[in-house]
Amino acid sequence: MASSTRVDLDGNPIKPLTICMIGAGGFIGSHLCEKLLAETPHKILALDVYNDKIKHLLEPEHGSPTLADRIQFHRINIKHDSRLEGLIKMSDLTINLAAICTPADYNTRPLDTIYSNFIDALPVVKYCSENNKRLIHFSTCEVYGKTIGSFLPKDSPLRQDPEYYVLKEDASPCIFGPIEKQRWSYACAKQLIERLIYAEGAENGLEFTIVRPFNWIGPRMDFIPGIDGPSEGVPRVLACFSNNLLRREPLKLVDGGQSQRTFIYIKDAIEAVQLMIENPARANGHIFNVGNPNNEVTVKQLAEMMTEVYSKVSSETPLEVPTIDVSSKEFYGVGYDDSDKRIPDMTIINKQLGWNPKTSLWDLLESTLTYQHRTYSEAVKKATSKPAST
Ligand code: NAD
Ligand code: UDP
Repeated sequence: MASSTRVDLDGNPIKPLTICMIGAGGFIGSHLCEKLLAETPHKILALDVYNDKIKHLLEPEHGSPTLADRIQFHRINIKHDSRLEGLIKMSDLTINLAAICTPADYNTRPLDTIYSNFIDALPVVKYCSENNKRLIHFSTCEVYGKTIGSFLPKDSPLRQDPEYYVLKEDASPCIFGPIEKQRWSYACAKQLIERLIYAEGAENGLEFTIVRPFNWIGPRMDFIPGIDGPSEGVPRVLACFSNNLLRREPLKLVDGGQSQRTFIYIKDAIEAVQLMIENPARANGHIFNVGNPNNEVTVKQLAEMMTEVYSKVSSETPLEVPTIDVSSKEFYGVGYDDSDKRIPDMTIINKQLGWNPKTSLWDLLESTLTYQHRTYSEAVKKATSKPAST
């Protein structure tokens, strides 16, 4: 653990904090808890409905008792739990990660998606504002929606101009599809909560930071259907493709896998969050893109790279036909739509926090798929060797 003489980016000593982390049991929360316990003296009040992904941090016999002393799990559903305000009041900082955030839910469970990402976040913002507590709220890169360039003619040279596709916190518009494309229920709810937080800052002095993650990926992301999640569940792309690779099935490319994404290693991204936590004077009042603009691929290229990396880490030869195309309607149902391209502008986070991502896509896939293979391959083998029930 770090000594008490740790200093921030301006050379001032960092005071130990009590952090109320809502959604601490999820993918990002589990990595953030791990990092804060290992490298800082901060205390965590970890709120979630699940704790499987942070169990290893909560049980002293599996780690150092001093680490477990600094994290306290509260099984709370923030939709309806009167303990929420008290826990926020006890803390110096609240970090809200809680959300429904898997695209398969946006068009099939739009009401739950809107409630989770907007309505359920309202009391958190209100309690922080009323009690003068700092808030770091997790939004999404999806608030940008589609790029301006995607509306230009296919052969327009302007499509190659970064002005038409690079996404800037203080300049880019938010472009969503029509209401019947319910995919945008998530982006729209996140945009409205961002606007509300911003307004609380402007009118009532709320100290806030908004994070817009651009496809953070790594170990413990989502679930493998039929192993540690529902058989019919559709997680985000890393877990979908991992599941296909573990089961030796072709990877499914939605509408040909032509959409583009930039992927960032979770451990790089968590460093940015730690800087925000420990440098409030530089982070308050800002919205930060957190992504890796150097790791851009089409989803098809991602599938090809994951196939190659998985073959290396598992020593299994790839399938002869490693991918198949599926329509978005077949894969996600009606109302699905997609972001065409997501390149984060890094100017603001660079200037305020001096942060840059480090890990290449190949390297992050190698460590992540090594984890997926080690964690799941035996369980998948067992599940697939069972005779089908009649
Ligand atoms: P996750 O689903 O792994 O974690 C979210 C956690 O919140 C889960 O553990 C869930 O149980 C908890 N939660 C949800 N509703 C709750 C409630 N009512 N009460 C208590 N706990 C509740 O997702 P993640 O990838 O860790 O994402 C965290 C945040 O970051 C979300 O707000 C998401 O929208 C945002 N985000 C993540 C990414 C990414 O790349 N991973 C991209 C864009 C945005
Ligand atoms: N996708 C795909 N096959 C899958 C899962 C996802 O082609 O098995 C595509 C999806 O249509 C999207 C991209 O991969 O274009 C990223 O999807 P993800 O669920 O990770 O979330 P998003 O980046 O869209 O928020």
